[in-house]
Amino acid sequence: MQTTLFLDRALLPDGWASDVRITCEDGLITALQIDTPPISGESREALGVPGLPNLHSHAFQRAMAGLAERRGPAADSFWTWREVMYRFLARLGPDEVEAIAAYAFADMLEAGFTAVAEFHYLHHSPDGSPYADVAELARRHLKAAADTGIGITMLPVFYAHATFGGEPPTPGQRRFINDPSRFARIVEALRKDGATVGVAPHSLRAATPDELQAILPLTDGLVHIHAAEQVKEVEDCLAWSGQRPVEWLLNNAGVDARWCLIHATHLTPQETENLARSGAVAGLCPITEANLGDGIFPSSAYLAANGRFGVGTDSNIAIDAAGELRQLEYAQRLSLRGRNLLSQTEGESTGRALLTGALQGGAQALGQPLGALAVGHRADVVCLNMDHPDMAGRSDDLALDTWVFSQGRAAIAAVYAGGRRVVENGRHIHRSAFNARYSAVLKGLTA
Ligand code: ZN
Repeated sequence: MQTTLFLDRALLPDGWASDVRITCEDGLITALQIDTPPISGESREALGVPGLPNLHSHAFQRAMAGLAERRGPAADSFWTWREVMYRFLARLGPDEVEAIAAYAFADMLEAGFTAVAEFHYLHHSPDGSPYADVAELARRHLKAAADTGIGITMLPVFYAHATFGGEPPTPGQRRFINDPSRFARIVEALRKDGATVGVAPHSLRAATPDELQAILPLTDGLVHIHAAEQVKEVEDCLAWSGQRPVEWLLNNAGVDARWCLIHATHLTPQETENLARSGAVAGLCPITEANLGDGIFPSSAYLAANGRFGVGTDSNIAIDAAGELRQLEYAQRLSLRGRNLLSQTEGESTGRALLTGALQGGAQALGQPLGALAVGHRADVVCLNMDHPDMAGRSDDLALDTWVFSQGRAAIAAVYAGGRRVVENGRHIHRSAFNARYSAVLKGLTA
């Protein structure tokens, strides 16, 4: 079915335009007119920008948001957080996983994310045995995406070891574990479903070089991997190989534009330069990285070297597209004691620079035509509430800066995903149903 959306102002690939009509069919933009009058009765919004791809999510972790913010007996860290996560996920079955994913995906849409790359490592039943359908839990994510309207790229995760050097997995990791042949069956099942599928070796801790060689041929497209999130991981990688994680990947794994290195937090200046030159995307998750105490990615140097980046919600502790962009800039301001550090030229809006960069890198990392209001791209549009008092007298880049730095998700009036208006007045059209299912799951988990 053909639909149209009329935007008084819209951010197109060459900049702001007026009186834009977007025509969509089967979720894609099939025609785009500018400086054209509205037709009475068609959907009309004041100001629209492309929906942001969320390049890194573990949807199930949303249900533990707030459960790991209590001081423990010893120093708390990423590693103690991970123990809480392992205990929590022992109680999740397929229905719970689907309900949490639908809730998280609806939240993403309301927050300005119109597509998600789900880095999916929760494969098996709580005792570690596979479900009758080895791709059961992955498919529950596809169902949740279809129910909410969010676009999805599935990244089934290959996970086999506890740490570098092929150490056997711990009991807490048993739901994640596959050998290369069973992993290939999961990839194949998702591909048969028609999904966009990449492969995700979890990290150099969890996959050996031989296993990497075995699973990389399963994709002709995307490869995502966690790398250098933690200082301890860098030290362990040095002890194992004499190289740092990102250095090892750049030297040994053929990292190029198909790759997305998640976090890549701890980089030397040389690694920063080389990663930028590789054409890969740095998958930055600034809110989660702050929550977990990971460290600060050198965005300022990396962007100055023309490095590609996108943002992800990772643990889903707080879901907000503008919030991720803001935290990315604020981490640089706090560490470098300056302002407007991630825009590149005098007079350039920082909100616009961050949004544009994350749209391009996000689309590349999801391997789909996303992130631009242009023919052939998915019709994903975030419409800001220009009636808000904070927006009075503002438009275009000033509206973006107000969204990113001041209002966050409260600035979003409507969201179109694949041409469908799935968020109205800031709320997903099926919000109450997702909420009811999710609250029931959450109560069951804490009972
Ligand atoms: Zn992650």
